Amino acid sequence: MSARILDGEAFAARTHRETAGRVEQLKSRGITPGLVFIRVGEDPASRAYVSRKEKRAQEVGIASRTLVLPETTPLAALLKEIDALNADPKVHGILIQAPLPSTLPNDVVYARVSPAKDVDGFHPLNFGKLLLGDPSGFLPCTPAGILEILRLGEIPTAGQHAVIVGRGQIVGRPLALLLARKAPGADCTVTLAHSRTVNLPSLTRQADILIGALGRPLFLKKDHVKPGATVIDVGVNRLTDPANPRGYRLVGDVDFDSVKSVAGSITPNPGGVGPMTIALLLSNTVRAAEDLSR
Ligand code: NAP
Repeated sequence: MSARILDGEAFAARTHRETAGRVEQLKSRGITPGLVFIRVGEDPASRAYVSRKEKRAQEVGIASRTLVLPETTPLAALLKEIDALNADPKVHGILIQAPLPSTLPNDVVYARVSPAKDVDGFHPLNFGKLLLGDPSGFLPCTPAGILEILRLGEIPTAGQHAVIVGRGQIVGRPLALLLARKAPGADCTVTLAHSRTVNLPSLTRQADILIGALGRPLFLKKDHVKPGATVIDVGVNRLTDPANPRGYRLVGDVDFDSVKSVAGSITPNPGGVGPMTIALLLSNTVRAAEDLSR
């Protein structure tokens, strides 16, 4: 038997249609939601990610642009750019593309973005609101996108055992909090595994919902998965591939070809979590514009 595919592209298209409708409503009041990406340096993956997000933003009617700064940008200059965007009434969302050059401290930079324009959900205030269950904050886009995939895929969550492999700040930790909330679409019993976890397969085989967010190519195999489980693959990894003109191919954390024969439902990768992450970013941007124009 082969698993049901949780088609992130199709789910994201639904979310984009809703977002485009909200953009129309704002435009009828003379407000065009504005989103600015800041990219520091010329990392090829960051260039590709930002241009994909910018294109999608424009498709739903958001005015988006990218501010490109050189790799050598001093911290003070970057903070000045962020301050200017914080003060610009035409800008409702600001996204600083990771990774930043090692000379720039992530925590200082992300904390400089106005929490009201922090559509990536990385500001400490928004993280705190997530922890407290305060819905006025912005949720980080990848974990929020995973919740949407579960909702749109009609995967039951209440009382289910979710095992997340990876406790990173962007995905694993916030996702654990979101899935454990006392709320519809959550109410999971959550296990958060990491590189020091002992006997990982014995834990992952207990998962009703298994999430790979560790950044290790094709790490989760058939033997990690309970028959019928839902498997969500977050990872984006380069795997050396001499047959590919680029010399590598992008793969997830889940060995899709083997796992699909045992899982009940599975996200493809690409085409699963990635598109939903962008959909949540744009939805957050429109919410920022709605909130800021009230
Ligand atoms: P991260 O901050 O580097 O965290 C990785 C986590 O995985 C850490 O908690 C680490 O454990 C754990 N880990 C590493 N090797 C392990 C192993 N062998 N067994 C168990 N746990 C292990 O990474 P991240 O930022 O959360 O990102 C994770 C993956 O998601 C990456 O591939 C990233 O590219 C991808 N991602 C995708 C999207 C998307 O939109 N699709 C968005 C964000 C991230 P320790 O804590 O013990 O070191």
